[in-house]
Amino acid sequence: MIKHAAIHFNHLGTPVADQFDDVYFSNDNGLAESHYVFYQQNNIAERLQSHDRDYFVIAETGFGTGLNFLNTWQHFDLHLHNRQQAEPEVHKQDDFSVKRLHFISFEKYPIKKADLAKTLVTWPSLTPYGEQLLASYPINLAGCHRLEFANGQVVLDLYFNDVQQAIDQMSYPQTGVVDAWYLDGFAPSKNPDMWQQSLFNKMRAISRSNASLATFTAAGFVRRGLIEAGFAMRKAKGYGRKRDMLVGKLTEADLSASAPAYFTHQPSSLNNVAVIGGGIASSAALYSLAKRGIRSTLFCQDEKLAMGASHNIQGAVYPHLQAKNSPHSELFAHSFLYAKRLYQHLLQQGFTYDHDWCGVLQHAVKKGLAEKHQNLADKALWPNELMYNVSSEQGDHIAGVKTGYPGVFFAQGGWVNPPQLVTALFAAANTLMPINRLLNCHVEHLEKTSSGWQLHTQQGSFGPFSDVIICAGEHSDQFSQTQQLPIVSVRGQVSHVQASKDSTKLNTVLCHKGYFTPAYQGHHCMGATFEKNSKSRTVTAQDNLINREQLLSFYTDSSFASSLGKISSAKAAVRCSFIDHLPMAGEWAEQSDYINAYANLRLGKRYQYTPLSKPQQGLHILTGFGARGLCSAPLCAEHLVACLNNEPRPLSERVSQAIHPARFIVRDLIRNKI
Ligand code: SAM
Repeated sequence: MIKHAAIHFNHLGTPVADQFDDVYFSNDNGLAESHYVFYQQNNIAERLQSHDRDYFVIAETGFGTGLNFLNTWQHFDLHLHNRQQAEPEVHKQDDFSVKRLHFISFEKYPIKKADLAKTLVTWPSLTPYGEQLLASYPINLAGCHRLEFANGQVVLDLYFNDVQQAIDQMSYPQTGVVDAWYLDGFAPSKNPDMWQQSLFNKMRAISRSNASLATFTAAGFVRRGLIEAGFAMRKAKGYGRKRDMLVGKLTEADLSASAPAYFTHQPSSLNNVAVIGGGIASSAALYSLAKRGIRSTLFCQDEKLAMGASHNIQGAVYPHLQAKNSPHSELFAHSFLYAKRLYQHLLQQGFTYDHDWCGVLQHAVKKGLAEKHQNLADKALWPNELMYNVSSEQGDHIAGVKTGYPGVFFAQGGWVNPPQLVTALFAAANTLMPINRLLNCHVEHLEKTSSGWQLHTQQGSFGPFSDVIICAGEHSDQFSQTQQLPIVSVRGQVSHVQASKDSTKLNTVLCHKGYFTPAYQGHHCMGATFEKNSKSRTVTAQDNLINREQLLSFYTDSSFASSLGKISSAKAAVRCSFIDHLPMAGEWAEQSDYINAYANLRLGKRYQYTPLSKPQQGLHILTGFGARGLCSAPLCAEHLVACLNNEPRPLSERVSQAIHPARFIVRDLIRNKI
């Protein structure tokens, strides 16, 4: 578990870290010093105008109060404003100026939100930015919290962890990602951990060539260590009365990636992207593309969006957490927090969908579940804001109905209307970047031509596209290229049952083996059935019966369950998943290519960076979300698009590998099965 910073404010009102006995920023004028040392000495203003990419990446050691971030954001805003003022013609041609700011910061002891609020009062000029930071300041959970501001023009990847551990866990491309470093980890004498040779070497690993750095310290061992790591260093005039500080530039990039060759994500041109599918995964992918100004076309075989697995009337949103620090738990915990921020953002932007963040209560309805919940309590891995254990009395109090079950409560969870949410997300994406939407358009065949991908449909042929992202759920294996996709199709039917006086008292979503929602439009959603290897969407009376019987079997003595009215309607859908219950996000992995390139994996040998011939380059998979797409699709989509755009990635390397399309092939090669 991550520990909060213990801080006090000195007589000048400057926050001081008790763990380090050092100030977060200078007593004199912290803001001016931050600007001079980090922003100006890294030459950020000039570089924003002539960068080789349309986004610029800054990384910082020690987020603290966020002062450096907020100051940088404010000046980036000024840059965007000046850019807008410039002649439109200048804009169009030869516009090398940066359009998006990406700020990565590492923090071992996050300061409490209340302390942050108190500190930010010191800087009235930063208030508009500070308020936004406060509104999305993350909970104390280890890992990368991707916070987005200004519709994604400003991204903050806030890593809660020791900086070295965080870098070790990052997923990054061979070229590195960081353009400029702010080294701000307290005075070296107070915090030697932040000034280690091993850290300097890791900084190099994730830096792009010519990355710059600046730090307030002029300590000789820091300068020598950075030189050893590959930075050309010089002294500069320090801020105010301080004599010296250090600035540097990476002379030669380290061309190693975080993943072995068979798990890398290669960048793509993303000139013009086709997205196939009409559910939460495709909307999330389109949104991630639109934020970056990338042109896209949606191909949906149905007459409107969200007719597949995203078509329920109420879908529960909560993370699936295990009592261990697994890639699975990490993915769901961070996906949930990211999705929740995104869904809230949509509402703030005026895109509406029915929902209630009423919490989700998972009942220990069986011995196995009770043991799992006990294990969760014993391991105490998850912050209370994410989940906490409740006794049956506490649970019943939260739920507002009598059940007699203890369980775990996800207070930030709740339910949304998935078709409305998918439509809202699509509309938001379309506002950022107009999307060509083709409904009733069944893609029959994908063809790779010399100019790109051609999509053949009954309405004609479309293309060329630089990339195709398949988010077609259980239909994702329908193309000749993707036939080997090892999809597990699970049919599920949800019944809509009339609410009673007693059942309308239910205040929260209940999960037992299935789920039961609070009343909405006079009905509850009750389900779902679980039928493996069926692709039928036909509603059956038998499944309605199963749903009611299942609910009654768990809540025999509960009047909310026994008083329910008749089942008025139902919906059946097919959820697409994989055998390891994890989704898939990444470039299509062709088994024969892998066998050719990595045959020696069978002998226990590992490969690094062998180029793979990729006849299917530009074909990507984003599917397999099972019944959890509302939680996990947005962050997986964001990860995929970040990988393809060669940007900093929100998921760690181990999670990236856990959802990589090649994972089953690599596993089978290692086990000598193929
Ligand atoms: N940049 C900050 C700002 O704008 O307010 C001030 C940073 S403060 C001088 C140094 C920060 O580094 C503290 O917040 C501290 O908790 C953090 N820190 C110290 N050791 C660390 C470590 N090993 N890994 C990550 N963060 C660390």
